[in-house]
Amino acid sequence: MAKASNLGFPRIGAHRELKRAVEGYWKGDLSKEELIESAQALRESHWTEQQDLGLDVVPSNDFSYYDQVLDTCAMVGAVPERFPWDGERVDLDTYFAMARGLQEKDLEGEDSGVQAMEMTKWFDTNYHYIVPEFSRDTNFSLSSTKVIDEYKEAKEHGIDTRPVIIGPVSFLLLGKTQEDNLDALDLLDDLLPVYAEVLQELAAAGADAVQLDEPNLVFDLSDEERAAFTKAYEALADAADLDLHVATYFGGLEDNLPTALDLPVDVLHLDLVRGAGQLEDALDYGVPEDLSLSLGLIDGRNVWRADLDALLDTVETAVDALGSDRVLVGPSCSLLHVPVDLDTEPALDDDMKLWLAFAKQKIEEIVALTERANGDVDGTEALFEKSRNAQTARAESDWINDTSVQGRVDGIDGSMTERNSPHAQRRPIQRDALDLPTLPTTTIGSFPQTNDVRKMRAKYKKEEISKAEYEEFIEEQIADTIAAQEEIGLDVLVHGESERGDMVEYFGRQLNGFLFTENGWVQSYGSRCVRPPIIAGDVSRPEPMTVRWLSYANDQTDKPVKGMLTGPVTMLQWSFVRDDQPRAETCRQIALAIRDEVVDLEDAGVQAIQIDEPAFREGLPLRESQWDDYLEWAVECFRLASCGVQDETQIHTHMCYSEFNDIIEAIADMDADVISVEASRSKMELLDSFDEFDYPNEIGPGVYDIHSPRVPSVEEMEDLIHKALEVLDTEQMWVNPDCGLKTRRWVEVKPSLENMVQAAENVREPAAVA
Ligand code: GLN
Ligand code: ZN
Repeated sequence: MAKASNLGFPRIGAHRELKRAVEGYWKGDLSKEELIESAQALRESHWTEQQDLGLDVVPSNDFSYYDQVLDTCAMVGAVPERFPWDGERVDLDTYFAMARGLQEKDLEGEDSGVQAMEMTKWFDTNYHYIVPEFSRDTNFSLSSTKVIDEYKEAKEHGIDTRPVIIGPVSFLLLGKTQEDNLDALDLLDDLLPVYAEVLQELAAAGADAVQLDEPNLVFDLSDEERAAFTKAYEALADAADLDLHVATYFGGLEDNLPTALDLPVDVLHLDLVRGAGQLEDALDYGVPEDLSLSLGLIDGRNVWRADLDALLDTVETAVDALGSDRVLVGPSCSLLHVPVDLDTEPALDDDMKLWLAFAKQKIEEIVALTERANGDVDGTEALFEKSRNAQTARAESDWINDTSVQGRVDGIDGSMTERNSPHAQRRPIQRDALDLPTLPTTTIGSFPQTNDVRKMRAKYKKEEISKAEYEEFIEEQIADTIAAQEEIGLDVLVHGESERGDMVEYFGRQLNGFLFTENGWVQSYGSRCVRPPIIAGDVSRPEPMTVRWLSYANDQTDKPVKGMLTGPVTMLQWSFVRDDQPRAETCRQIALAIRDEVVDLEDAGVQAIQIDEPAFREGLPLRESQWDDYLEWAVECFRLASCGVQDETQIHTHMCYSEFNDIIEAIADMDADVISVEASRSKMELLDSFDEFDYPNEIGPGVYDIHSPRVPSVEEMEDLIHKALEVLDTEQMWVNPDCGLKTRRWVEVKPSLENMVQAAENVREPAAVA
């Protein structure tokens, strides 16, 4: 019989119970025992729920107090030297110290703590993992028995789970080595005995199988890296008496398929959502007789109710080829990346709920699909019927399908993605129109979001104050922010964004086609969760979104005010996106909506408009072969959003990072007049890419690190400006902070910006200093 399986369940809890418990512990409101108890309760309810839904394979060790990669570091004792621990067991406090650092103030109040481990994005998700740190001295040893303990814990509740751990090769490849000539894979021989020990202990505790996640198999790999997978699993194959299930996800195996199929393991999991054709590829290549396949059919990265009839065909293909005993059915990847339960969304109407499936509903789908493949028609028909209804309802819904939007997208022509003149001609026109000095100064958009601002926004949401009261309050904020910027002496002002919470949600709520959930929380990192919007239908802008505030801001000053918008790629990237049309198509619709806003802002007299694209780079596909395709439509969408204006209107964009050596040409292709990027923390490292590539437009490498409360001095910012001018022309450079100021306080922001303006002045007129 085919088996219904899951790769991982959201650990945070339907009501973010884990977040509350962990943060309570950090604050000292909860004892360690209380934290452990609430974690146990959550695990138990997740296991029971999944078993009750009918899963044959329920995962354990998918729970984590912070992050599964950090758990693996603890398991193998990869604790960087700077953290104090006894070298035996990684206890909870050491574990949290690795995640969050140790804050200690010495006598002078200087921070003498220990720096947290680095965090980075988990493949192309918005989940962030803790990056393992390796050095030649890393001494691997079994240092946390969490995986074994949780297996036993589930068993005590009568549930025989399949423990999940990150596989040894992905674990090493996800890490960073501290020494230049050390390759993480050099450590494989030292690491494998610890994995073998874990497998032996699991087998001794009664586990039949273990899931080893090896998502790195979907990357472009060198021969050496591929060989490491073979070597690792040859070593682990006979280490213990239990089945090895290797899970790949987030893409197709492509050229790594032979390597994966020939691993001496018992089950190979394929992501058949991202790598749709790879079941056929695997069958063509030949699935070894003692290998079973786990079919990742239910989308673990999105929230749509599946088309079960279509998926059943795939299951049947596999069953015909392999026999049902060699088939498992599951989600494409762990369900960590979707919200827990659609039933906690009373505000969504039933028509819309029919379109959707969160983690629990996805498990129902997996079970129904499996049981249907095993011959149970009657028991599964209701869910199959629901699935059919969902597909039809989405195809026919007037809320989703807006022919005028579709017609507009079809009518996009080349002239809409071109400015009237090239940047070289626009630059003098804009400098003149905006009356800008050389090295103009500006900020990224937001100013400190004080408690007052947050309180008023919350009150307005709860309808405790009237619209008029709220708007008056925002106007005061804008007027104050403008006055402060005039006093500081900035050249291009902003309105401060005090009316906004989240930069995607703020716009999404004003656009047609977006849905919002009440409890659709997804873990972003540690205890932090986000509620991504759901782009469900054709997107359009019923009315102007920001014009009111920007016009008001413009009236408060003679200086140019820059309007702030979130770009189409970022809106797409930070939302759940419809799966019934290509992402590029959805992005074009958003781009057209933003374009309308840009044009309206220009008509209202706003002379500079910034379209933020902090998520532009993270949209890059995992495989380099797909980069060009992505970059082509992503750039096109930015241009579509921005090119509706006259030459004298200045288009800015902002990205919160500076590693774009590899996509610098695409960034230039966006043709923003000005781009601001992060640079101060890396001491202008980004400028390396400008050495080789002659960036044609204007750029403001951040000179003020807004991630720290520290007030940077005039001198150090002057130095950074000089450093940047070694590779940039004076005529193309701007002076600005690294990112928005919303998380900072006015007491830090004001002196910092004053110093920044002074630094720009000193560089402009060095003689005047003497
Ligand atoms: N304009 C936004 C701000 O200043 C940009 C935020 C971001 O880069 N993520 O806050
Ligand atoms: Zn930023």
